[in-house]
Amino acid sequence: MSPVIINQSPVTMKRLSLLLVSAVLITAAYAGEGMWNLLLLDSLNYKDMQEKGLRLAPEDIYSINQASIKDAVVIFGGGCTGELISPDGLLITNHHCGYSRIQAHSTVENDYLTNGFWAGSREEELANPGLSVSFLVRIEDVTGKVLAGIPDSLPETERNRRAGAMMEELKSRAVEGTHYEAEIKSFYFGREYYMFVYEVFRDVRLVGAPPEAIGRFGGDTDNWIWPRHTGDFSLFRIYADKENKPADYSPENVPYRPKKHLTISTDGVKEGDFTMVIGYPGRTDEYLTSDALRMIGQKSLPAKIEMRTLRLQALEKEMARGPEARLKYAGRYVGISNSWKKWIGVTRGIESSDAIRRKKLLESSFDQWAHGNVADTAGYSSLMEQFSVSYTQFEPLYIANDLGYELLNSPEVFDLLNKTQIDFYAMLDSSDTFQKVARNQLKQSGVKFFRTESMVIDQQILPSMLRIYAENTDPRYHPGFFSTISNEYKGSYEDYINSAFSRSVFTDSTRYVKMLRKPVEVMRKLISTDPLVVIYRDFSRTLMFDVYVKADSLSRQINRLYRKYITGMMAMDKTRVLYPDANFTMRLAYGKVEGYEPSDAVNYGFYTTLKGIMEKENPEIADYQVPLKLKELFVQRDFGSYTVNNNVPVCFIASNHTSGGNSGSPVLNAEGNLIGINFDRNWEGTISDYAYDPGICRNISLDIRYVLFIIDKFADADWLLDELTILKKNL
Ligand code: ASP
Repeated sequence: MSPVIINQSPVTMKRLSLLLVSAVLITAAYAGEGMWNLLLLDSLNYKDMQEKGLRLAPEDIYSINQASIKDAVVIFGGGCTGELISPDGLLITNHHCGYSRIQAHSTVENDYLTNGFWAGSREEELANPGLSVSFLVRIEDVTGKVLAGIPDSLPETERNRRAGAMMEELKSRAVEGTHYEAEIKSFYFGREYYMFVYEVFRDVRLVGAPPEAIGRFGGDTDNWIWPRHTGDFSLFRIYADKENKPADYSPENVPYRPKKHLTISTDGVKEGDFTMVIGYPGRTDEYLTSDALRMIGQKSLPAKIEMRTLRLQALEKEMARGPEARLKYAGRYVGISNSWKKWIGVTRGIESSDAIRRKKLLESSFDQWAHGNVADTAGYSSLMEQFSVSYTQFEPLYIANDLGYELLNSPEVFDLLNKTQIDFYAMLDSSDTFQKVARNQLKQSGVKFFRTESMVIDQQILPSMLRIYAENTDPRYHPGFFSTISNEYKGSYEDYINSAFSRSVFTDSTRYVKMLRKPVEVMRKLISTDPLVVIYRDFSRTLMFDVYVKADSLSRQINRLYRKYITGMMAMDKTRVLYPDANFTMRLAYGKVEGYEPSDAVNYGFYTTLKGIMEKENPEIADYQVPLKLKELFVQRDFGSYTVNNNVPVCFIASNHTSGGNSGSPVLNAEGNLIGINFDRNWEGTISDYAYDPGICRNISLDIRYVLFIIDKFADADWLLDELTILKKNL
């Protein structure tokens, strides 16, 4: 994968990812900073980890010769982490990672989301078609092979092409004759390449999940927030064939016997304790220059936040109409608000951690070093200047692309018109029978869409979104219809959009169905001249041909600069080790349990308890409902052995460097025992995706003792406890 470009678009346009460089090098190592490649732990981190408290050998964590912790950690589904906690394939991950599976099994009669689900025996565990988990078999450094015969001077596009071809070959050679899968990922902007070989299991069954009022307690209100009280876990079991190999679902399959499962410690955590998190962080841009961070944090994100605020306000207005409307839009609301809230956290974190100035300081140190280096054969002394020139050109393109992408993906009606266009052109060359089927399918998607009444929201948000796009982007990247708005609608986005909505076939089910009955040529004309199609098409074309093509080529050049920057930083201080950005490969982060000071005179403790859940309880607020049984357990102080200070611990924070994708990751103590399940970060701490700050960046974990308490006391699912390996409390 190119480290610079990510294709996320449902349409033709691609979103540009960002480019980077490190802050780490010149200053002392930050506590907790870094997401490390397990293959290199021994050579890079082991000594430091030992000094900080680790009591394991490197081979206990990663080994291909013996069972190690890496064998107990999996990719869960498409973007989460999970870990094995029993010799019979039992796996724990977050509730929010298992959410869609729990939802898929829920019906009005058996609403597992609301009431929770606990299989009473293995026979009652529920199959999940399409869900898989991947075990990492091994990591291999393939840099030398991928880059063999590729001179440094080769233009980036050609370099990527040749490296790509070699990677394909290496991958297929690596798994030939096996049932494994391989992928190769670029590290440090293509400076290094590593191959990851996986064994993928496809029969993964739901075993248990607490009710939402525990698993999602605090909901959106508490998302990205500390102090937190969310029991964010769910349990699954991996099944295999009789040979312990991956197999499609079959009643004949048996519980998978993992090479390794984690031992649980109920000792709990104290401030200052060593902790580590092993999992799959998805994406960070840690090495961005100050110019790049300013572009994102002070220009692009604020505009996107404004766009989403408007969308959320429009949804709230509709949802206030009653319970039916609330239900209809709830999922969409959650989907939009998660990133919205995170972006706000990032912009705050940039301010409170002074991230731009910190990066500037590092850049000037680099520049000074490069200028003091008389020979400078690598050309480091002109690097900062090259960055500056490149970002001046790149910024307007990046912002247009980023905001344009946000805009095109916001109105639901664009999905319908996009799908209709694709299906219409696909059916053109086919037989009459097929055309009939295709028209029928189009009708079905139309009916489904019109039932959602999404147009009401779309019509409200589009004028403001267009205005925000116009105000924040270079006029060179305004699609042609913007001049129609200025000239024919006196600059009124509302009038323009209202007129389009009143005429479009995609905003009225009668007009839509009528169109589907027309002969092909009439249909073609109706679609291609539809006012909403004109907006969508003009916008996509502008973004693709005026923005993306140029931005893509520039971003490749910038990637090259970053490769040089990171190489330069490595040369500047040979004692420092730079960690690679997250790229959804297995990483280890280590830090310690610690609270933080979010603002002047405010001190956050490092753990929360059941008492806090009772304090937050509010029957008026959906996010703060507490199940009756949990209240009873609290009142009766029926805590079992899962206590701290005569209370049940719920969550704790630590300075482990994590990111999206680390959800569900095991949080381990110095002995490698499971003490928690990672599920979130604190709000300002989300700046850790761009510039880690040890003062404010914390990962939020669920205390394993709360998990045990819920399984034992709340769910009475003792049969599950029996298969866990739990260390007795060290008193
Ligand atoms: N909540 C995130 C996730 O779902 C974790 C994080 O970003 O810290 O992966």
